[in-house]
Amino acid sequence: MGSLCLLSCGDISKPRAQEAPPHPATQVADCATRADVLGLSRIVEVDTSEGPLFGRGRKGGFDFLKDGEIVLTFDDGPSRSHTRNILKALAQHCTKATFFMVGRMAASDPAMVREVAAAGHTIGSHTWSHAKLSSLTADKAEEEVELGLSAVASALGAPVAPFFRFPYLRPNAAAVEYLKARHIASFMIDVDSRDFRSRDPAEVQKNVLTQLAGRHRGILLFHDIQPSTAHALPALLTELKKRGFKVVHMVPKQTAETLPEYDARAAKLIAHKMQAASKEPLAPRALTWQQSQQSTGDGGTEVLPWAHQRNTSSPLSTGSTASPTNEPATVPWYQKWFTP
Ligand SMILES: [Zn+2]
Repeated sequence: MGSLCLLSCGDISKPRAQEAPPHPATQVADCATRADVLGLSRIVEVDTSEGPLFGRGRKGGFDFLKDGEIVLTFDDGPSRSHTRNILKALAQHCTKATFFMVGRMAASDPAMVREVAAAGHTIGSHTWSHAKLSSLTADKAEEEVELGLSAVASALGAPVAPFFRFPYLRPNAAAVEYLKARHIASFMIDVDSRDFRSRDPAEVQKNVLTQLAGRHRGILLFHDIQPSTAHALPALLTELKKRGFKVVHMVPKQTAETLPEYDARAAKLIAHKMQAASKEPLAPRALTWQQSQQSTGDGGTEVLPWAHQRNTSSPLSTGSTASPTNEPATVPWYQKWFTP
C-alpha cells in the first residue's frame, strides 16, 4: 500500500507494536452477578495493524456495534476534579470506557493517568495540545500526534492503546494516512453528548438519549473535563441500563509504539511540570491549558477478537447518521466541531 506519509516515516513501518498484556478481567468477574448495573456485554479486541477508522466519518468507518450496543468515550482529560467522579460513576456500574487523553493534560497529572488505567479503562491519545491537525503543516501534525502519544504513555509509565481521536473530530487525509502507517486506529463518534455546551446535567442526558433513540447504538462522546458530564453520568448510566443498552469495551490487540525522540521530550516535559508543581503544591495540577469558558466550572461475558476488516468491507452507513451540529458562537475555542 502506497501510504502517504506526512513526515519522516522511515522508522515507523518496521518495528511492530508488541502484543498487549491480557486484559484484566478481574473486575468484570466481580460484577458479573449484579443485575442492576450496566456492566459489560462484551469486550472487543481491536487489531490496529492497518490503522482502521471507527465510528462515523465523512468517508465512513467500521460500524461493529449491534443494536443496543454503545461504547463510552471520554476526551480531553485527565482532569482531577472531574475524571475521578467519572471513574466512580463507571465503577458503580461495573462498566468500562475509553479515555482519549491530551498529552499536556496527562503530563500535568501522571497519577491521574495511572488511576484511570488501574480502573481497567482503555487509554488512547488525543494529540499533545489539542491542535486541529488539518490546519497544521505535516511536521507540526506529526509532532502533535507523536508528542501526545509519548506524553500519555510516559505519564502512565507503560504503553497505551494505539487508539487516537482527532481534536475537533477533524480528520484530514494526510494525518489519517500517517496514523495508518503508525498502526494506530482512529475513532470518530456516533453520539455527541454536547457536554461542553451546557452546565446542566439533564441537558447532557437528554442529548445522549435523544440521539440514541434514533440510532439505537454507537460510540458516545463525552469530555472528562466537563462538569456537566461528571454530574450527569450516574443518572445517565442508570437510565441507559433501564433502556436496555449494553456497553462494549474496546481494548487493543497491540500497544502503541512510541518513538524514542518524542519519549525523551515527553520525559523532560513531565519532569519540568512535576518540578513546577512541587513548588506550588496548592495549584491545580491538570489545568495547564485553556478550559471551557462555560466551565467552573459485568459483567463481560465474552472476549471477541476483532477480526480486522478493510474499510470497504464494513463501511459505516452515512445515510443513517445524524448531521453534525452547527457551531454556536459561544463554543469554546477548543471544541469547535466540524460541519458537513
Ligand atoms: Zn477534544
